[in-house]
Amino acid sequence: MGLADITQDAVLKAIAEYDELGQDVFLDTYGFKPARSYTLLYEGREYDSKAICGVAHKYANGRPLPASEFSGGAATVAKTLNSLGFKFHARTNLPWVWDELILACDLLARHGWKTLDTSRPEVVDLSEILRLLPLHPVEQRPANFRSPSSVRLKMANIRDWHPSHTTKKTNGGVLDRRIGEAFLEDPERMHAAAKSIRAGVLSGDLADLPAFEEEEADEEISAPEGRLLVRKHYARERSRKLRTRKIARIRAEGKPISCEACSFDFATAYGDRGSNYIEVHHIVPLHHIGESETRLDDLALLCANCHRMIHVSKPWLTVDQLRTLVKEQRQTQV
Ligand SMILES: [Zn+2]
Ligand SMILES: [Zn+2]
Repeated sequence: MGLADITQDAVLKAIAEYDELGQDVFLDTYGFKPARSYTLLYEGREYDSKAICGVAHKYANGRPLPASEFSGGAATVAKTLNSLGFKFHARTNLPWVWDELILACDLLARHGWKTLDTSRPEVVDLSEILRLLPLHPVEQRPANFRSPSSVRLKMANIRDWHPSHTTKKTNGGVLDRRIGEAFLEDPERMHAAAKSIRAGVLSGDLADLPAFEEEEADEEISAPEGRLLVRKHYARERSRKLRTRKIARIRAEGKPISCEACSFDFATAYGDRGSNYIEVHHIVPLHHIGESETRLDDLALLCANCHRMIHVSKPWLTVDQLRTLVKEQRQTQV
């Protein structure tokens, strides 16, 4: 019992099952993780080689080989598959993150959910934009990072999830499906987000923005518009200059420096210590934020609690929505 029992026919059956279930379900069902260094290459598609071997064992021997019972390295899995005539592909590319997928899906959706050839100027252009995104450290990037052919492959991965694509053959991941769903759900917003990211990248505006603690992990997208625009949002709100100018403007208009959602007034609550304190929230929707300069009218004054509540979970609330919520809550308590 072991890898030596696996036959070519069993590998082909495992590949067929992988195609049928899709990568996520396949890996989940048999308890494997995505391949990190080598993938099996078959008919132009990539497969997680260790998982394929484990499942091929089921077809050869009646029982899948669990991940814990064998190593996935070149000496074992690669050697077995090689001897059966299969080819390998060193996985050199870094996994695509949400913002990159927004741009790829934008191009795909704008072309009727059909992939484009690598020679198309749109694909070459996208490849160049992707290389400019400040999302993967330059020193970690392989030479072919986000090449036109990797752009094309990613477009195919996303396209495979589209409802119109009936032959469901894909080895895309869960994010490939989610980005497609996001575009189908709210195309205008997602296209605007793509436009915003592009504009922000080309102007250099998104280049050096720090990541914030509010930014969640890849799988947990804090906003469908992606993390670069989220960074931009927080950076604008934390600009001391903008805040000072906004407060000066409100004072000049003779209005109170208080929360626009709950009316909390820091000076009343904390005296002198709170007299100049308030947070500003940028009200321009995320998908438009990369395109324009901040105007003072785009900033709302919020207390720290209300500001936190707007951002605490998705979707972010508007100031009006939060004001209504606070009012309703107060009414239920009297
Ligand atoms: Zn408040
Ligand atoms: Zn905010």
